[in-house]
Amino acid sequence: MKLKIKSLCGIKKSAFKEHFDEIQLLVCQPKFVCGKCARVAGCGDHLCKARKLKIG
Ligand SMILES: [Zn+2]
Repeated sequence: MKLKIKSLCGIKKSAFKEHFDEIQLLVCQPKFVCGKCARVAGCGDHLCKARKLKIG
């Protein structure tokens, strides 16, 4: 699946609204958390300072 969203950190509110379906897929099964912004994602590429989640 090709994603239009580059990073979940620093995402604009308008972009969040526009790409909500896509974002849901990124965060529904989180494996990484951003050490800076506390955002979560299934893939570390979408976070500015990805750290692997150790729980779950
Ligand atoms: Zn971040």
